[in-house]
Amino acid sequence: MKVASVLIPLPVPEAFDYEVPEGQTVVRGDQVAVPLGPRLIRGVAAEVFETIGSNRRLKAIDQVLDDPRLPERTLDFVEWAARWTLSPPGEMAATALKGLRAPRPRPERRVRRVEGRNPARPTAARTAVLEALGARAMPGPDLARTAGVSSGVIKGLVDEGVLEVVEIEAVAAFDPPNPDHAPAALNPDQAAAAVAVAEAVTAGGFTPFLLDGVTGSGKTEAYLEAAAQALRADPTAQILILLPEIALTQAVIERITARFGAAPAEWHSGVAPPRRRQVWEAVVAGRCNIVVGARSALFLPYANLRLVVVDEEHDGSFKQEEGLVYHGRDLAVARARIEGAAVVLASATPSLETLWNAHQGRYRWLKLAARHGAAVLPEIGLIDLRDRPPDPQTWLSQSLREAIGETLARGEQSLLFLNRRGYAPVVLCRACGHRLTAPDTDSWLVEHRYTGRLVCHLTGFSMPKPKTCPSCGAEDTLVPVGPGVERVEEEVRGLFPQARTAVFSSDTVPDGKSARTLIQSMADGEIDILVATQAAAKGHNFPRLTLVGVVDADLGLRGGDLRAAERTYQLLAQATGRAGRADRPGRALLQTWTPEHPVLEALAAGDRDAFVEAEMAEREAASLPPYGRLAALILSSENAMAVEKTARDLAEAIPNAERLEVYGPADAPLALVRGRRRKRLLVRADRDVNLQAFLRAWLARVKVPASVRLTVDVDPYSF
Ligand code: ADP
Repeated sequence: MKVASVLIPLPVPEAFDYEVPEGQTVVRGDQVAVPLGPRLIRGVAAEVFETIGSNRRLKAIDQVLDDPRLPERTLDFVEWAARWTLSPPGEMAATALKGLRAPRPRPERRVRRVEGRNPARPTAARTAVLEALGARAMPGPDLARTAGVSSGVIKGLVDEGVLEVVEIEAVAAFDPPNPDHAPAALNPDQAAAAVAVAEAVTAGGFTPFLLDGVTGSGKTEAYLEAAAQALRADPTAQILILLPEIALTQAVIERITARFGAAPAEWHSGVAPPRRRQVWEAVVAGRCNIVVGARSALFLPYANLRLVVVDEEHDGSFKQEEGLVYHGRDLAVARARIEGAAVVLASATPSLETLWNAHQGRYRWLKLAARHGAAVLPEIGLIDLRDRPPDPQTWLSQSLREAIGETLARGEQSLLFLNRRGYAPVVLCRACGHRLTAPDTDSWLVEHRYTGRLVCHLTGFSMPKPKTCPSCGAEDTLVPVGPGVERVEEEVRGLFPQARTAVFSSDTVPDGKSARTLIQSMADGEIDILVATQAAAKGHNFPRLTLVGVVDADLGLRGGDLRAAERTYQLLAQATGRAGRADRPGRALLQTWTPEHPVLEALAAGDRDAFVEAEMAEREAASLPPYGRLAALILSSENAMAVEKTARDLAEAIPNAERLEVYGPADAPLALVRGRRRKRLLVRADRDVNLQAFLRAWLARVKVPASVRLTVDVDPYSF
């Protein structure tokens, strides 16, 4: 009897076996419909094998579906990713099939000539229509426009049977990119980097690169040239460009379109489902060469993936923490390894993990030394707030105010950066000191003036600002504490009433379209002072932007998180790197109460190496990544007792292991979210310990009750 192991989207660690009916052929990667309880469910055949004399009573595969077979290496990748992240392989496979679950775009209605039929009355308008149409099929409105007639003329011809309406299935055409469409003249560093990558692509085989260059050094231009050379050598090559944020895709798509004379495919949650289906089908059929997308684009069924680029590879947004927990950058490297492709991790501020890999010689290190052309890096100054603290209830120091005034007078732009949404991060009662928190959640309510509401940034809960204190009942005693971007903008408007100001945060630009509009008006010089959260810190090029002010440079340094220093360094380096991208020199001013902090000293000195060296030494002393490995187990439930008990059970079941420690259980950093109690256990292991095997053995010993959710986070981003 033939048996197929089928991956179906259920939270279980194995595939399910089904009998292959007599006369059917099933091949690894085939999509099949299989019975599961009373219904049929879509799955992917992972393995097909022969059993002899088995007495197992297996259900049979219902149907081998007509959908494209998942390519071998895509399935290899899915299975590897599931093992690495300890995720259910069937759910990983379902991620790879997501595009197929979307509806097909509606067929397009077009008109065409019915052979041998002529109009009874050939008026001038009718003749114009038939001439414009020729032997083609055209959408009616287009035809009316081309022929310069009203739609009634076309309708008349259809009624008379001279034209007929046909439905044409909308098959997306992805024009092949032309590598020679608009090449850039690269500087020697860029050219060398592009050649190195392109040679690796052409030679074949897994080759990872770190493309390391300051903001504006031309990394994008360099990897696009590598893509062009790869396409010249192999016109069927597929190239995936991963970006950390949807807001960045538009600019990159425009650059690719300008460079190659054809638009790439776009893939992220903001793309309409019918379009996603078209992209999925084009990718698996090899009809599409360049994909620009978010981390989920890693799961597309590439027919011939030759090059993966992870732009802004240090960015924490590549880590997916809901649902399947994985790091997009790490999986990108794995995908390239499995495909035998090249992978380029690009950044001005690479993660310590990536730098470590480059130092060890595992990644080839390509460096772009200077900014392209005349642009120079901004001069970075620290403003010591202890010298002349700003007045109470204001957030901009005298020095920063003066700098903004000078910039404004020169007709240039300023970006004020504060990584805090809303008006004020905390609302407090002056009478009793009570701080307003979200219901059933461990987080402050943030005041938003634009919407007039108090918002929990964790759960999205919101409510109008109350008149009375919910704790003591006093009236009109609730006051905002501290600044958010809206409050800084208010101060700026008071100081510079003539300036055009705007706020860029996920509240003011909730979607890709509004982000594009705001970015465009900034690029067009319609905004003088932009107050922004990290949403605007990365990627964008604003030629007239010459001043970046960081309102609170100490913000990220306060947390005790593993990556607090690294993340702050990266964020501030990216933010300050926005200034002076074109022919005008820029400067950046950082307001701080702790100018002696090593992160700020390194930033001010423009000395990344000094920062990296100091931070690496600390990580090495504590055997933390990249010198060791981590994993987190997070338990959550509405039933606090059940969480406690499961946490204790886990703590008692820890297998013996060397060079590995388990910490906890302790309250998770967000101990209460939407009424769910959260506990966490942390694992630290030396690099050569098989962390996944340890976790699997451990989890096999404990029964987690259905009321408790267990999330395994291998290589957590925060710790
Ligand atoms: P990065 O990706 O390193 O931040 P970009 O590739 O975005 O840098 O380049 C920064 C700016 O310099 C862009 O406006 C880009 O068009 C321009 N640029 C980079 N390299 C070249 C080049 N070789 N010729 C012309 N312009 C370039």
